[in-house]
Amino acid sequence: MNHGAGGETMQEFLSKHIVSHFPKMRSDVPLTSLDDSAVIDGIVFTTDGHTVKPLFFPGGDIGSLSVAGTVNDISVIGGRPLALSCAVILEEGLDIDIVDRVMDSVGKTSAACGVPVATGDTKVVEAGAIDRMMIVTSAVGKRSEHMDHNLSVASQYRKVDSKWLTDDNVRDGDAIIVSGTLGDHGVSLLSFREGYGFESVVKSDIAPLNGLIEKVLKKGGAVTMKDPTRGGLANTLNEWSSKSRIGIELNETDIPLKDAVVNACDLLGIDPLSIGNEGKVVIACVPDAASDILKVLRSHPYGKDANIIGYATSKTKHVTVRTSVGGRRILEPPVGDPVPRIC
Ligand code: MG
Repeated sequence: MNHGAGGETMQEFLSKHIVSHFPKMRSDVPLTSLDDSAVIDGIVFTTDGHTVKPLFFPGGDIGSLSVAGTVNDISVIGGRPLALSCAVILEEGLDIDIVDRVMDSVGKTSAACGVPVATGDTKVVEAGAIDRMMIVTSAVGKRSEHMDHNLSVASQYRKVDSKWLTDDNVRDGDAIIVSGTLGDHGVSLLSFREGYGFESVVKSDIAPLNGLIEKVLKKGGAVTMKDPTRGGLANTLNEWSSKSRIGIELNETDIPLKDAVVNACDLLGIDPLSIGNEGKVVIACVPDAASDILKVLRSHPYGKDANIIGYATSKTKHVTVRTSVGGRRILEPPVGDPVPRIC
């Protein structure tokens, strides 16, 4: 299960056993960079398989998750999502009402974020061959009309190397911002699945973030973004740290966390910073743009709890957290997300 859990084990598995078999490609952002989307000839392209269990949970379902997750992967690299594909694999005997409910959710989320489903596929496999339903969504996009402005704002303060918001684009002094509370999706899903009861106060944060991200780009100064899905903030920041060859220092007290998420994680012995989110974006920006970007985020419903949580620094190679009692710990890259089948 760790080979699909979004952490270090999966990264190594992908590099050795999946990506290594494919022909090398030349493009702005190739497969081997393992970013949220690839960019080929100006076209932003991404795909996602969804195996979440159960299909319906507090705050969302496999349908809304599929659309939001794929739209967000196009947006966080600086793309404007144009259209989706939706492939549905169904287990023989699945209630038709369930198919209708999930597809209705796909349609509503697609309408809400303005990204139509343009193509798709449907297959049925025999009972027992899969667990009820899986959805594979892909999306294409083109460069956001605000990306050139965004990078030109950042370039006023320092040299910016990447034309896209790639993981290798963080530099000394950049501010790290999160758009809201972390761990909600993973905790809500785990709690609902296992009957712990926290889901009455914590719901999944599933949200398509293309509208919010466009507003940030219009303001300008962001150098990279990522949706902290499997492996959570810890995985996102360690990917940035290793691909950008830079340290990151966080202030624990500045990281937005719901009390119920902290309590649930204490009880279950898991780290809220390693749990997947589905409606949050982490942004690195030049320090001079941080307060303006924070204002933009906080004025949007999906970013109202946004905060600056730390800064990139060349003083260390690690991601570190200054704890509430004044100590410092290394935020290790997670081996894998502690909660399986959350997306
Ligand atoms: Mg992503």
